[in-house]
Amino acid sequence: MTTATGRPRACEDEPTPGLMSRTDRAETAFDALARALDDAAPGCKGDTRFTLDAHQLQRDEVTFLSVKVCRPCPLRALCQDYAEAAKPQAGVWAGRVYGPRRGRPDD
Ligand code: SF4
Repeated sequence: MTTATGRPRACEDEPTPGLMSRTDRAETAFDALARALDDAAPGCKGDTRFTLDAHQLQRDEVTFLSVKVCRPCPLRALCQDYAEAAKPQAGVWAGRVYGPRRGRPDD
């Protein structure tokens, strides 16, 4: 169903992503991820490797976590949306390592 503006009614109350600040996008994405976590337990739950600093992770370990844990995760898209908006300072999010790496500060 659409509204007078032609947008789907479900979208009428949602902020327009292009007009949101990075912080607002991160908060919106976090809220969506948090709601989804109420109904699903991702493979990373309780796995401390997902919260390590980038330099503490070996490349083959990241590949393993990405392929075996994150790829089949039902929350992957929401997790990726949040991480891309928030740019976390550490950890593995949706199969990607965030935060500075030793010798590669911009990675
Ligand atoms: S996609 Fe995100 S929520 Fe899912 S296992 Fe990976 S890090 Fe955890």
